[in-house]
Amino acid sequence: MLQEPEIETLPWLEQRAKDDASYREQVRYLYDRSEFFRSKLTANGFPTPESVGGLDEIEALPLTEKDELRRSRSDAYPIGTQLAAPLEEVVRIFSTSGTTGIPSYIPLTAGDLDNWIRTSARSYGASGLRKGERIVSTYNAGPFVAGAALDAFPRLGLCHIPVGSGNTERLLAAIKLLKPQILACTPSYALHLAEIGQERGLDLPNSSVKRIMVAGEPGGGEPAMREKLQNAWGATVTEAMGIGDISVSLWGECEEQHGMHFSGRGFVHFELIDPQTGKQVALEEGATGELVYTHLRHRGAPLLRFRSRDHAMVWTSPCRCGRTSPRVRCIGRTDDMLIVRGVNVFPSAVREVVNRYAPAVTGVVSIRPAAKGVRQAPPLKVVVELTDAGAPPSGLKEKIESDIRATLVVTTDVHLVPPGTLPRSDYKSRLLDFSEASKETLGE
Ligand SMILES: [Zn+2]
Repeated sequence: MLQEPEIETLPWLEQRAKDDASYREQVRYLYDRSEFFRSKLTANGFPTPESVGGLDEIEALPLTEKDELRRSRSDAYPIGTQLAAPLEEVVRIFSTSGTTGIPSYIPLTAGDLDNWIRTSARSYGASGLRKGERIVSTYNAGPFVAGAALDAFPRLGLCHIPVGSGNTERLLAAIKLLKPQILACTPSYALHLAEIGQERGLDLPNSSVKRIMVAGEPGGGEPAMREKLQNAWGATVTEAMGIGDISVSLWGECEEQHGMHFSGRGFVHFELIDPQTGKQVALEEGATGELVYTHLRHRGAPLLRFRSRDHAMVWTSPCRCGRTSPRVRCIGRTDDMLIVRGVNVFPSAVREVVNRYAPAVTGVVSIRPAAKGVRQAPPLKVVVELTDAGAPPSGLKEKIESDIRATLVVTTDVHLVPPGTLPRSDYKSRLLDFSEASKETLGE
């Protein structure tokens, strides 16, 4: 369902021209109102908005790191010097669930908040949902930006049934009694529910849920994971993705299930960069790189060239749904990337290849680098869990190793272990395990 057909189907080059004008205006606003960016740009040789130029020149500007924003906070500036709007105009202050203990604050004006909800509505609307459907969600919005995404549901004409996270019984009861057509949750939670359904003999494929919208972590776009979820639920799985500092849901997958369309068009500009060199990567079919975002029409605390640490693959080819924005799939976190003899390797990509061998393997995988840091010497140790306790199928280790080499151009040493060996508590962190890294980082 196109939310804003004229905008969502506008040729991408025309979008770029509009965005260039918005960008120049945003840069002027930053020089006027943002202590953080006025100082940063001036220190980097850009004394005026005119010296910054337009979107074609954006690569010359410095990137912005999350840590810089954090360091700009003080008693005088509790939100940070990137706060650009007068506090009287701020209507919402979200926090991020920062891992460092102190939250980062994200101030939004009424206009910012509305733009976030519009963006989220485009993002979720792409999934094919229909007005009048019921959606059950398991996100605990609380202080977090997810709240703005949930605000998009009534705007889409949906009946929203929030059940919060970590309450499986309440969720299963809501599905049984209220019969929602849509489930919104993280992919790992959808998988967890599928396992519980199997244990209890629930008939999930014949439940009311026909559509699962996953967000909050990568995984929902990996073919094997998606197939597993779709089979377990008898439902279509589509992904959405955003980033708290920029906009809660910036990307949303359509019914073609071939990557998430950019739903932040007009509000946000995105670039791809090589995370190692910081150089721009051209937006071409199949290109990969880290996503970097720039606000175009933001007031609260607009950001310029903000590094997301999300590494993505891009598709620019036309999509049958009519949306003209490029599509992405998140491959992993730049922070999780390893470089093995010059080749970028993401743990999630290794897992994806291993998952081709289901049902012989459970899909639970652990990458165990031998050295600390990003650079690794081959072979890379990969621990793969088997589904059956008996002897592994003959040749399986060699087949997986050769498949990984053919797909990812990296040599691995696969260790097959009995079922239940690897921890399951934290789906996100267990993929990369540095506990066996004894040596220091390898030199160039
Ligand atoms: Zn599409």
